[in-house]
Amino acid sequence: MNKITNHMPTAELQAIDAAHHMHPFTANHELAAKGARVITRASGVTLTDSEGEQILDAMAGLWCVNIGYGRDELAEVAARQMKELPYYNTFFMSTHVPAIALAQKLAELAPGDLNHVFFASGGSEANDTNIRMVRRYWDQMGKPNKHVIISRKNAYHGTSVGSGSLGGMAGMHAQGGMPIPDIVHIGQPYWYLEGGDMSPEDFGLMRARELEAKIEELGEDRVAAFIAEPIQGAGGVIIPPDSYWPEIKRICAAHDILLIADEVITGFGRTGEWFGSQYYDIQPDIMTVAKGLSSGYAPIGASLVSDKVAKVIDSGEFAHGYTYSGHPVAAAVALENLRIMEEEKIVDHVQNEAAPYLAEKWHSLADHPFVGETTIVGMMASLALTADKSVRKPFKAPAGTVGYKTRERCFANNLIMRHVGDRMIVAPPLVMQKSDIDTLYERAVKSLDEAYKNVKDAGLM
Ligand code: PMP
Repeated sequence: MNKITNHMPTAELQAIDAAHHMHPFTANHELAAKGARVITRASGVTLTDSEGEQILDAMAGLWCVNIGYGRDELAEVAARQMKELPYYNTFFMSTHVPAIALAQKLAELAPGDLNHVFFASGGSEANDTNIRMVRRYWDQMGKPNKHVIISRKNAYHGTSVGSGSLGGMAGMHAQGGMPIPDIVHIGQPYWYLEGGDMSPEDFGLMRARELEAKIEELGEDRVAAFIAEPIQGAGGVIIPPDSYWPEIKRICAAHDILLIADEVITGFGRTGEWFGSQYYDIQPDIMTVAKGLSSGYAPIGASLVSDKVAKVIDSGEFAHGYTYSGHPVAAAVALENLRIMEEEKIVDHVQNEAAPYLAEKWHSLADHPFVGETTIVGMMASLALTADKSVRKPFKAPAGTVGYKTRERCFANNLIMRHVGDRMIVAPPLVMQKSDIDTLYERAVKSLDEAYKNVKDAGLM
């Protein structure tokens, strides 16, 4: 067999890929017919594909490459750690320096008293930890009936059976066996699609109060926790109305339940603060992190745990853990990533330069006849495509059809933008400079113009 390299013709790579590689969240037979885009290298905010195209990555991979591609420091740290100690577990009364140092650093960065870290390999695993941890917490508190976790429709918390159940993705649940028992979902604060004639503020309050109603319906003695992303990411960058989080905070304080903030996307500078919890002034009992923790250079996630919860969990053996919990190479890479973020003041860069400039450009897209609303916090933004912006009118096609067509135009114009239904979203690397944002804007306008024409011509308005 030939060695497979970046120098092989694209079609050959695509054929082998189609024969053997099952892609996540993909209709693989459709992809096989079309051929996957082969990404060969990346630097800064730009990907290169096997045809030599230079593509602006406005999604930072999967919302994770916060410090951008091609940082040699991370490669060097990984190589050094691999030579020194490529692996050891943290199960049986042992530990190692990368895990110690990263846990200490996370405790320092995280808000409030999230001083304890349980490591995982990614966000799904960390959320599985959280399911087990909150139930174990209440067991040890002598309340074994407090096992129900309340989440939200259209939330994304991962794709394992546990975390996929926490999530509220109807398409995932339709594929069998999910949600597992004792996980229930309330409505999401998605005003544009679901707010009807209500003001965003009233709608935000109403959706927050669904939490209180659900706690009362189930009985507080059955509810363990509420989990939410400060801003829903994969659901479509749904930025809740301003009234939402203060009311959720009030409800959590009024009832004896734990709050889990899933900051897999909103963590590590994405909102212009270190964490989305700081942006919304919330103090979770547990925080899920992954993605930006290592800028995607190594698979790692974690549950950051408050003093209150850790004290109870640590009082006995928590029968849980992953082979790669605190993996030394991933931990060393994450630590170096955080060092760079601090040294280069990347959170300040987001807050004071990149995000305000992106916001100015992004909001100007609202003038486009195809665009119903534009929303943005920090470096995560979305826009709603609409057939008539005055009434938030949907298209004459199943939801997502027009979003998909628009994404195709973006890809054709060498811009990675994602669609969720008929919403277009971006979450670029945090290190974007103004000139990159100008390129993003120019390609977005061109793509929107082309898609708008196609959709009009196809009679879908
Ligand atoms: N939580 C959130 C909020 C996420 O966005 C994701 C991934 N998109 C996850 C959890 C799951 O993380 P992973 O894919 O690393 O398992």
